[in-house]
Amino acid sequence: MRRRDTIAARALEHINPSSSVPAVAPLQLASVYLFEDLAHVDRVWDGHEAGYVYARRGNPNVHALENVVAGLEGGAAGAAAASGMSILLACILAVAQQGQRIVAARDVYGGTHQLLTDELPRLGIETSFVDLEDTNALESAAAEDHTVLLLVETISNPLVRVADMPGLAALAARHGLKLLVDNTFASPVLFNPLMHGADLTVHSATKYLGGHADLMGGVAAGESSLIKRVQDLVNNLGPNLEPFSAWLTLRGIQTLSLRVERQSANALALAGWLQPQDPVERVYYTGLADDGQHARASELLPRGSGGMLAFELKGGLKAADAFIRGLSMVKFAPSLGDVMTSVSHPAKTSHRYLSQADRNALDIHDGVIRVSTGVEDINDLTADFAAALAKAATI
Ligand SMILES: *Cc1c(COP(=O)(O)O)cnc(C)c1O
Repeated sequence: MRRRDTIAARALEHINPSSSVPAVAPLQLASVYLFEDLAHVDRVWDGHEAGYVYARRGNPNVHALENVVAGLEGGAAGAAAASGMSILLACILAVAQQGQRIVAARDVYGGTHQLLTDELPRLGIETSFVDLEDTNALESAAAEDHTVLLLVETISNPLVRVADMPGLAALAARHGLKLLVDNTFASPVLFNPLMHGADLTVHSATKYLGGHADLMGGVAAGESSLIKRVQDLVNNLGPNLEPFSAWLTLRGIQTLSLRVERQSANALALAGWLQPQDPVERVYYTGLADDGQHARASELLPRGSGGMLAFELKGGLKAADAFIRGLSMVKFAPSLGDVMTSVSHPAKTSHRYLSQADRNALDIHDGVIRVSTGVEDINDLTADFAAALAKAATI
């Protein structure tokens, strides 16, 4: 008979594997795997036999997510990390060394902007920020000595401008730069950067891939040797994705197409509904026929312009505050990609690190509201927005 301390220490051994196969893949929490003998260690460690060693170096749930996103993006391989920021950092470090330069869109995600300006310069990696519509500025930044990477987003934040991906891919190729595309806002349902000349694509899985605002994660896809470098960086730096978040992301991905299709349809309907409203100065959504980028979006995003839109209220900060307080169903939450519609105020959240003058130069005025549409009935959304706009109109 085992003694009490042994019974306690071996408690999990009482879960016996049964012959029944679970219909849903199990979550695998083990941090370490068992080996028969030293030869077995050699075979797995050296990659001659499929298997896992230690969870930071790989886990079945994480591995499945990497493969699924690679498949969705048309890449040979995938790499996951604990957040969008950590996979982005690993992708950047896989390409850029000390003394080398990055060219990035000036309107990249705020966290990315801070990574590029606050952290990477001390590693000797400098970034030139450019307006992606300014081809002369792009050319001269790309031509600067030691530039190795072009970093752009498919759809920008918060004014949802669509990048000219064929033009950017051609520029990167001309200057021998790797092209890294943050495809978070589009999701693999609407756009696949690797099919348009990108070397790497990354997602904050926290947003559309997960889709339910209940996890954090990041995934990249691309060609095998580059992704192997990204995986090694995640292993060596340590921001590995934990298994439950990988499992939740996989479950989210099962409905990704359905969600993004509905979110795009809701965004298009809401954008069209907002346009003629009195308190609204202008609406940003490339799905609208009169948007300046409608032709480009129709070509690059034929399945829809996505679930993100923005609009500007005439009354500035006060109207924005009244609008946000006037919403009852839709919540003010500075994130996106959830099944529930949310709004954000870029000037006070994602872009508060910029001066007011810099924000105004980017058209991110105090009256701008960003919307991430969910999958609700559009009539309930317009009703909630109508009530909130009425509040904003009284300011
Ligand atoms: C959220 C986001 C990130 C960062 O992802 P986290 O999961 O929050 O670390 C990067 N890029 C874009 C476009 C994002 O929306």
